[in-house]
Amino acid sequence: MNITQKTSIHSPVKYLKGVGPKFAELLARAGVETIQDLLYYVPRAYTDWSTVAEIDTLRVGDRVTVVGQVLSTDLSRRRGRRSVMLAVVEDETAAIVARWYNQPYLSNTIKKGDRIVLSGEVRFDKHARRKEFVSPSFEVMGDREVAELVHAGRIVPEYSQIGDLSGKRIRRFVKSAMDAHFDEIVDPLPRWVVERRRLPGLKTAIADVHFTKDTSLAAFARGRLAYEEFFLFQIIVGVRRQRRKDAPRAVAPLAWSETEHARFLGALPFALTGAQARAVDEMRRDLEHGAAMNRLLQGDVGSGKTAVAAAAMHQAAVNGWQSALMAPTEILARQHYENITSLLEPLGHSVVLLRGGMRAEEKADALEAIRNGGASIIVGTHALIQEGVEFSKLGFVVIDEQHRFGVVQRAALRQKGGAPDVLVMTATPIPRTLSLTVYGDLDVSVIDELPPGRSPVRTAVRDEAARGRVYDFLRQEVGEGRQVFIVYPLVEQSDKMDLAAATKMHKQLDRKIFPDVAVGLVHGRMRAEEKNEVMRAFAAGEISILVSTTVIEVGVDVPNATVMVVEHAERFGLAQLHQLRGRVGRGSHQSYCILMAGPAASDDARERLKVLAETNDGFVIAERDLQFRGPGEFMGVRQHGLPRFSVADLVADTRLLVQAREDAFELIERDPDLSEPESRAVVAAVERRFHGQGDLMEVG
Ligand code: ADP
Ligand code: MG
Repeated sequence: MNITQKTSIHSPVKYLKGVGPKFAELLARAGVETIQDLLYYVPRAYTDWSTVAEIDTLRVGDRVTVVGQVLSTDLSRRRGRRSVMLAVVEDETAAIVARWYNQPYLSNTIKKGDRIVLSGEVRFDKHARRKEFVSPSFEVMGDREVAELVHAGRIVPEYSQIGDLSGKRIRRFVKSAMDAHFDEIVDPLPRWVVERRRLPGLKTAIADVHFTKDTSLAAFARGRLAYEEFFLFQIIVGVRRQRRKDAPRAVAPLAWSETEHARFLGALPFALTGAQARAVDEMRRDLEHGAAMNRLLQGDVGSGKTAVAAAAMHQAAVNGWQSALMAPTEILARQHYENITSLLEPLGHSVVLLRGGMRAEEKADALEAIRNGGASIIVGTHALIQEGVEFSKLGFVVIDEQHRFGVVQRAALRQKGGAPDVLVMTATPIPRTLSLTVYGDLDVSVIDELPPGRSPVRTAVRDEAARGRVYDFLRQEVGEGRQVFIVYPLVEQSDKMDLAAATKMHKQLDRKIFPDVAVGLVHGRMRAEEKNEVMRAFAAGEISILVSTTVIEVGVDVPNATVMVVEHAERFGLAQLHQLRGRVGRGSHQSYCILMAGPAASDDARERLKVLAETNDGFVIAERDLQFRGPGEFMGVRQHGLPRFSVADLVADTRLLVQAREDAFELIERDPDLSEPESRAVVAAVERRFHGQGDLMEVG
């Protein structure tokens, strides 16, 4: 018996007519694995060849299509020269010559007597003194109608080529997928969603995005496909969020006390800004609610996130819970420890610091206090999530992330408690599209206001030629008692050459350029104690100029520092530079940020740096950075849970994302276990679309 398995829309793309294993491999690079995936491979552009003209009306420069019959062909190949294929094509009104270079095989495709369609620009050939088409798109029609054309005589879709796989060949594949499997397309979107957002159905969208009669319809169709992709992804996000909300908790919801909050505010050395107060209020609502809080607190460096976190720590402690704050480096942990201690000890809470290099007995004491509940607030590095750290009653977790921890560490700390409330703090402003994706299952609070009395940092882009003047300026600031950061980038932590360059620069500054000024050096390869000592000396004003090789080492608060110089600024992302700039301007003195563009910086890179000179708004900068670098580079990785979208554009499609999120969450609310038929179709589509990116379905 002969069993033939029928190819379906979900079959591997290699089974599509003409594709085969070799092209299938190339298609896989672009994420196209099944025949259906190919239907979601949208054109990057369209060329409108839909205007059909009679040959005797053609004028030089016209971009048109003609339909006619091949009168004659001629292929000339002379050795050492490129081959030329000529065809004379005639309609009822006149004839014209079409010419193709280096495509000798066309003599097998285009034959005398064929009906042919040519689309191209009309040129004037000086030697022959006549109008011609040069390398036009064409299609031999056979007995087809103009309406059935693929490559010419219509609005032609242009696909990005993938390796050796040309856009034209992809067009052919897409057409054959459409011809063979169009009827199998099933729309995964619930009807109410399609109606609410007035989206075209999936079949219409796929037909229009590839072989459209109108480019505005194509754009509409692309929007629908992007929406669908966002919707399916937000289902994952929503399920994750739901799961967490339903998780059983060891801690009862917190009883927020206004009296205690007033006591906290009374002890603060300053008044909260409006934005801080708003963030506190948003947290309060989460904390009082039965489900665990999962909130992202976004705010520029210096916007005062710590005080917001401390307000909640105070409430947790009053409720008899422990709080833990995890920072990415020891220096930052220590600084948090000092800040939190000064804010919360006066209120009667005991704060401990847990870090890597503690002496054994000191550490044993800390661990004991954590275990028996003697410590209410525990500050530390990732040492907090190691084995052997047992909390007596962990109710509230704060993660100062600054892009340092992954999803896994976050989950590990959460597991130390029985589903505690979680606040993730980040100083890098993240564009809305990315926060709704990467941090999609978190609620977001934004501190978009700096404490009063800070004047904006003045920023300038300078190059080598200005170095002398830059040094003069530093001398002047130091002369007035101010301090200076000079950051020298290490592209890789292990990059020996860069480290050598930074060390050399430090030596030169210390000995030659500022012999009478204390110049310090801190880099990632130093031992923790050495680093701490240098940082302490800088904070104490014993060092005036600090050369640093890594970004994070300058995460300290030194209000007397007024100048941030960044060498090879072009190697940093804008958001990162903005974060660095936030290290100055923290005191009452006017501060400056000088971005030194290295000799190798391109004009584009310099242009990019100018954005920082133009604005101090972290969110504007983040949006621009995202536009310049794209989502992958911006987040600096996949580990951050950034999925690969094939149609949707995280830069341009914000509105669609917000809508898709709203709808996806509503579906989950209507049908929490996604068991209705309409939901099951959605789940099947999610699995198909995001399979192999399974980590997205896991913890967050
Ligand atoms: P972030 O963690 O957001 O970078 P911090 O919480 O470290 O910022 O606060 C930066 C500085 O601003 C600290 O010295 C802090 O004491 C101070 N600060 C915070 N909030 C206010 C406020 N509302 N008014 C005045 N100073 C504030
Ligand atoms: Mg901070």
